[in-house]
Parts: sequence; C-alpha cells; structure tokens
Amino acid sequence: MKIGFIGLGNMGGPMAANLAKAGHELRGFDLAAPCPEGVHSATSAAEAVAGADVVITMLPNGEILRAVADQIIPAMAEGAVLCDCSTVDVESARAVACQAQQAGLGALDAPVSGGVGGASAGTLTFMVGGSDAAFAKVLPLFEVMGQKAVHCGTAGAGQAAKICNNMILGATMAVTCEAFALADKLGLDRARMFDVVSTSSGYSWSMNAYCPAPGVGPQSPADNDYKPGFAAELMLKDLRLSQQAAEAVDAATPIGARATALYAEFVEQQGGNGRDFSALLPHFAARGREPS
Ligand code: NAD
Repeated sequence: MKIGFIGLGNMGGPMAANLAKAGHELRGFDLAAPCPEGVHSATSAAEAVAGADVVITMLPNGEILRAVADQIIPAMAEGAVLCDCSTVDVESARAVACQAQQAGLGALDAPVSGGVGGASAGTLTFMVGGSDAAFAKVLPLFEVMGQKAVHCGTAGAGQAAKICNNMILGATMAVTCEAFALADKLGLDRARMFDVVSTSSGYSWSMNAYCPAPGVGPQSPADNDYKPGFAAELMLKDLRLSQQAAEAVDAATPIGARATALYAEFVEQQGGNGRDFSALLPHFAARGREPS
C-alpha cells in the first residue's frame, strides 16, 4: 500500500519503519524528527499524503491533530483512509473523523497500548473506532505494527476504550503502591505481600506484570530505578483525557478524579516528571499519612 505517515517521534518512527520493512511504500513528514530508514521524506504534510491509500498520524495531542487534519484532508485522494493512532480527546477524534467523511474519506481513531517497546517490536494493541470498511482496509497494517486490533465501535470508540483502560491502570497502580507502603509500615515483607496478592483477589496487571516494588515479581521499571517504562507524565495526560471525557458526558468517576489529582501533584510538584508511573511507591513509602 501507499502510506503517508505524519509524526515520526518515539512511537511513529518505529511504527513507520516496521511498515516500510514489510514492503509498503511510505512517505513521511515530521516537523522535527528524521524519517526512519526505508521511509521517503516529504517536504510537507500535504506532500506526504498525496496519492496515499492510507494516511497514519501519530501526534502529541488533539489540538495538533486538528491542525494537521486541516492541512492533509484536502490533499488526500478520494476514498483514502485517515487513521489517527495518537492518544487524543474523544471530541477531537470525532471532529476529525467527521471532517474526513465530509471530504469523501474513511476515518479511524486507533490509539495504541504497548509503548515504545511495543512500537519497535510490532506488538502494539490497537483500539479502533470507525466504519467496518475503513477498519478492514487498515487491518493488514495494524497486523504489521501490532499483535491485536479490536474494532470497538464508531468514531471515538477507540479513544474511549483507551482512556477507560488507562483510568483503570492509573487508579490500580496508585492503590497497589499505597498498599505496599502500608504493608511496609505493618512489617509485612514485600515478597510475601506479592506472593499473596498476585494469587488472590487483589491481583491486577499492576501487581502481577509490572510490580512497583524492586526485586519483587517480574522485571519491571522498579528494577531499573523507576526509569520509564510508562512515564508518569504520560499517565497524567491519559488520566486528564479521561476526566475531560467524563465531564463532557456527566459520568461519575470519583476514583479516576482522585488518581488524576495524585499524578498531577506527583508530576508537577513532587519530582515525578520523567520517572515511571510506578514510582508512586517510593513516593508514598517516604511519606506519612496526610491530613484529610
Ligand atoms: P513524540 O513527541 O515522540 O512524537 C510526536 C511527533 O509529532 C514529534 O516528532 C513531533 O515533531 C511531531 N509533530 C508535532 N507537531 C507536528 C506537526 N504539526 N506536523 C508534523 N509532525 C508534528 O510522542 P510519542 O511518544 O511518539 O507519542 C505520540 C502519541 O502516542 C501521543 O499521542 C501519545 O500520547 C501516544 N502514546 C505514546 C506512548 C509512549 O509510550 N510514548 C504510548 C501510547 C500512546
């Protein structure tokens, strides 16, 4: 397929490289990042997308996505599909999909989980919103860049799935970290705590696959001095998107709101920026109970 790829940063770069390696014809554009090997460099976003069957965007946020969409939609060939893989607010995802459809294009929102490691290894999970026809057209590309693509529903459903998942993840990691800090103060050994919880009803991905306690459970960023991994500021971005969406539809998310406030404080005031999101454990362990 002829593919235009806009946004070749930490995630987009390796995703584009994998598509080129699989034999697709790629033209890429980024304001700053270089094109990876095998990807032809275009001089503008519009040039990158002209004549492409599928255009993939991997950009920082919804505002930038909207600005890029304004540039590329008029330059895309009729019937082509615009597939945005960035994590953005549901409203921007729906607005861009609507704009694309009005121009005779297909549109998908297809945010990913799996991080930079998954992007390089081609093992991402795609959560996809949009029409059956657009999904079917892009599926072979999802299969190159990832190991799983779930068609979640119509426009915006992929972003909805992503922020619900990450709201669960942020809240679960926070409570897992505070439980370890409580266990410490109760004199309970961390390894014994892991043995019990990982096989009991408190188990979760945060505990079992990404244990925040160093030297306990499988290898995780905790064993590498909490270098990300999944950076706390990226978790904060996703939590804020969950709260923005919850406000827009009047959904009660008290625990999600508390997790958002916690990560905001950690990232913006307490040195969490640039650390893995599981670094809440040493943070809690070093503090006592705060006045409620
Ligand atoms: P990044 O900052 O490394 O890459 C974004 C790229 O977009 C940059 O290279 C930037 O130069 C480019 N860009 C910005 N404005 C542009 C424009 N107008 N035209 C062309 N290029 C432009 O970010 P990333 O880590 O690759 O993340 C991309 C998206 O993926 C984000 O929405 C993020 O939330 C999501 N995501 C990231 C991770 C992760 O672990 N990094 C995991 C899952 C999802």
